[in-house]
Amino acid sequence: MFGFSVFLLSLLATTTACNDTEDVVKTFLQTKIDRNVDPCSDFYAHVCPVNLLIAETVPSLLSQFYIREAKKFQSERGEFTELMQEYIDEFSSRSFRKTVNDLLEVCDVDKSKAVDFASTITQESFYMNKTCEEISYEFGILAPNATLTYEARRILKVLKNGRREIEFSKSELAQLLNKNEKKFFEIFKDEVRNTFSETPWLNYRNGTDFYLDFLKNRLSLLEKSQEVIRAWEMVFEKLKVSSQHCKPNNTIPSFVCAFKELENLTKDGARPASEFGMFGLDLNAVNYILTLTDNMARLYGGYGNVIGHEMMHTFYSSAGDTDLLKYYFTNSSQCVTKQFAATCKEFGGNCIFSGTATTEEEDGSDLAAIRLVYSDFEKRHLHNEKSDIEGITTAQMYFYSFASTTCTDIVEALGMDDVHSGWKIRVNALMSQMDEFKEAFQCAGDSRMIRSKVEHCSIFGSDAPQTRKHFNSAPPTENI
Ligand SMILES: [Zn+2]
Repeated sequence: MFGFSVFLLSLLATTTACNDTEDVVKTFLQTKIDRNVDPCSDFYAHVCPVNLLIAETVPSLLSQFYIREAKKFQSERGEFTELMQEYIDEFSSRSFRKTVNDLLEVCDVDKSKAVDFASTITQESFYMNKTCEEISYEFGILAPNATLTYEARRILKVLKNGRREIEFSKSELAQLLNKNEKKFFEIFKDEVRNTFSETPWLNYRNGTDFYLDFLKNRLSLLEKSQEVIRAWEMVFEKLKVSSQHCKPNNTIPSFVCAFKELENLTKDGARPASEFGMFGLDLNAVNYILTLTDNMARLYGGYGNVIGHEMMHTFYSSAGDTDLLKYYFTNSSQCVTKQFAATCKEFGGNCIFSGTATTEEEDGSDLAAIRLVYSDFEKRHLHNEKSDIEGITTAQMYFYSFASTTCTDIVEALGMDDVHSGWKIRVNALMSQMDEFKEAFQCAGDSRMIRSKVEHCSIFGSDAPQTRKHFNSAPPTENI
C-alpha cells in the first residue's frame, strides 16, 4: 500500500508539473467512442469508430505530443537534423531531386561511395565504369520504385529522429516518464512473481526460480542510460563531421555520406550499446506518455498492457527462441490460436494473417498480459477508485483504455503480413476471453462478443495446463 501511495503522488506531481500535458486517453474516451455500436456486439468498433481519422487516434496523438515536446529540446545541431529531414521527406514523396544532386556531387569526389549508396537504396547493381551523370540519372529513375530494406529504413529513422530523441531523453519530462515507468514495472513485477509461483507447469524443473532470476537480472527497461546517450552523441558528432567533408564544397553536409557513415558507425560491434530501441518511437517515449495520468484504470489498461505484453514475451516464448525459457512453455497456445482464429472469422478479419501459427507468440503474450495486468489492477485499485468519466465505470475504464490505444487504419485492424494479428482481432479475442469484460459491460451470453469465445484459455495460475509444449529436442540439463 505504501508503494502505491508514493507512486500515485509522483504521478500527480508529474501531471501538475507539465501544464500542457493532457491525459490523451481520457480526452479520447470522452469524445470519440461510438455509442451507436453496442460494446457487447463489437468492442473494437465501439471504441474505434469507422470514421475516426488516423490523426485522431491515441497512438497518433501520443506521437504528436512527443514531437511537440522533443522539438523544445533541439540543440544548435538542429540544423543538421533539419537538413536530413528534407532528404528523408523526399523518400516519402518519392521524388529524389535533392538526393540525386547530392549523389552527383559525392560521386565526383568518391565514386565508390556513390555507387555503394545507390545500390543500397535501390537494391540494383551500379557499375564503376559508368560516369557519375549516368549513375545519378539511373538512381533517379530506380529510387522511386525501390523497396527499402529493413536496414535502410533503420538508418533513415535514426537520421531523422535520432538527434532529437537524444535531446528529448535528457529533458526533465523524459526523466519523469522513466521514473513513472520504473515504478510501475517494479509493482507489476511483484504480481508476475506471485502468479508464477502458483503455476504448476512453471514449477517444473525449478522453472519458477529460473523465471524469477530472469525477471530480477535480465529483463531490463529501455531506459537511456548516461553512457548510451553519450555514445550516441559521439555517433552524431562523427556523422556531422564526416558528412561535411565528402563533397567538393565541404561546408554543407551530404546526405549520401551521412547515410553511409551512420551505416558504418552502427554496424554490429560498433553500435553504442544495444539500445536501438531508443529510436523506436513506438515503444519508448510515446508509450511512456501513457503514464501521465492519475487514473489507475487508465494507467493499467493503457500503459500496463504495453509493458505487460513486452514482459510476457519472455514468458510465452515460442519454439523459435534460443532462450531456455521455451522449455517451460505450456501447451495453452493451441487454445489461444483457436480463439484468435475464431474471432477473426466472426469479425471479418484477414485470417491468413491473424490467429495463425505465426501470430501465436504475440497472441499469447497479449492474453497473458491482459489477465495479469487486470488481476494486479483489481487487487490494488478496482474497489477504491472512482471513475472520472460519466457513463464509464472503473472496471469498464480498464478495457476502454486498452482498446483506445489500439485504434488504427482498417488494413492494420483486420490483419496484415506481420507477426501480430490485426488490432481488431486482438482486442475482440481478448475481450471474449475476459469474464471481467462480460461482467463490466453486462453482456448477454448470446451477444456477439461473448458468443465468439471458444473455450477458456488459462496460461498461468493453478488451473493452467500442466503439460509442456512438445519440442523435438530435450532441454539442456545444465543451468536449469
Ligand atoms: Zn509483441
